Amino acid sequence: TFGDTEAQREVRENDRNYVFHSWSAQGAINPLPIAKGEGATFWDYDGNEYLDFSSQLVNLNLGHQHPKLIKAIQEQAGRLATIQPALANDARGELAKRIVEHSFEGARSVFFTNGGADAVEYAVRMARHHTGRQKVLSRFRSYHGSTGTAITLTGEPRRWSNGTLDAGVVHFTGPYAYRSAFYATSPEEEAERALAHLEQTIQLEGPETIAAIILETVTGTNGVLVPPPGYLPGVRALCDKYGIVYIADEVMVGFGRTGEWFAYQGFDVKPDLVTFAKGVNSGYVPLGGVVISEEIHNTFVDRSFPGGLTYSGHPLACASGVATFDIFEEEGILERVRDLGERVIEPRLRQLAEKHKSVGEVRGKGFFWALELVVDRETREPLVPFNASGEAAAPFNAVVAACKQAGLWPFAAGNRLQVAPPLVTSEEDLVRGLDIIDAALDVADSYYTG
Ligand code: PLP
Repeated sequence: TFGDTEAQREVRENDRNYVFHSWSAQGAINPLPIAKGEGATFWDYDGNEYLDFSSQLVNLNLGHQHPKLIKAIQEQAGRLATIQPALANDARGELAKRIVEHSFEGARSVFFTNGGADAVEYAVRMARHHTGRQKVLSRFRSYHGSTGTAITLTGEPRRWSNGTLDAGVVHFTGPYAYRSAFYATSPEEEAERALAHLEQTIQLEGPETIAAIILETVTGTNGVLVPPPGYLPGVRALCDKYGIVYIADEVMVGFGRTGEWFAYQGFDVKPDLVTFAKGVNSGYVPLGGVVISEEIHNTFVDRSFPGGLTYSGHPLACASGVATFDIFEEEGILERVRDLGERVIEPRLRQLAEKHKSVGEVRGKGFFWALELVVDRETREPLVPFNASGEAAAPFNAVVAACKQAGLWPFAAGNRLQVAPPLVTSEEDLVRGLDIIDAALDVADSYYTG
């Protein structure tokens, strides 16, 4: 209950005394205790309301406390709360069927995991056994999870202090027209040159040593980098040419984020393996998995797949996954993401870019956008340096603080305000959230030096 300072103190004390938090110096953090959530909104114990433009960690696609998701979990819990993976289960089988039916042509089966990182681990393991090769190529400016292979595949600072936990990983540079590594002057040129670079990387590493290429279809935390036209089909063509498995990491963008069931469906490309998690059931119960092509599935028809998890295909998680499919259809989620993305979010963000000189670029799709903040539009110098922390990050932190003070919880990453609201957010709330961002950008403008 709001204003219950005793309850709040206890939550805070137990957290500080006993909970060890992700990605943090334990002495330097003070997590905000949350009392409740509903739809796109959550509240702290003092009754402060936050409109969630981050969908928590871009997983809460159907918002907090969706009654049908809750009901599906309750019904399943009342019937059969858990069952080990070597036995068949109705919720698991039904969810696998629905996922395959909504996947690429030639998709055959689903291996369920507990989340995104282990989905990546298993996709890579399948590709390695399928091809008999060891290397895996991934992009700089990517995040694939925090376990051994997944963190090594990750192409950004979160990998640095973890070292190389998988000796088979090789990084390459992907397209990013706004900060082109290829001196490109158009998206087409960016795609073409990024593909030439990828092919050269393949040739220099030895095509017959490369099991897989893994790509976030739209790069998520590292900037909402939407692939330029032709890039993903070009990657597919290189995979075909060299016998390499194409893994689409759809952990963040799968299940409606960009207005498609899976984001690759909007880019004219067909992967061999697809990792998913987050939006599959909005994280109500941990769940992830790998969609497997017929060809790779067939590798393991007579040969045993060497891998598994106690909770693979957990009934409570799968029941909420099945309910997710029902809700998407009943509430026309994909249609509303496309409609509101095009009609409300994109035009307003483009308008903000005209109004605020600190906005260097706007990019995105559906309910997934980034405002890249700069101090100079000519030089494109970012509002804060790459991987800034402490004092160096202060200008960006001030923008984030302005959002939070006004009741908006943004998805903040590097020098970018990213917009990733729950897919059920009302039009009115979208407009309200964008108004708050508009006001917070005045703070970003105050640092402008160009
Ligand atoms: N892959 C991508 C693209 C992600 O965005 C994430 C998480 O943010 C992961 C993998 C890892 O997922 P998890 O945190 O569930 O392990």
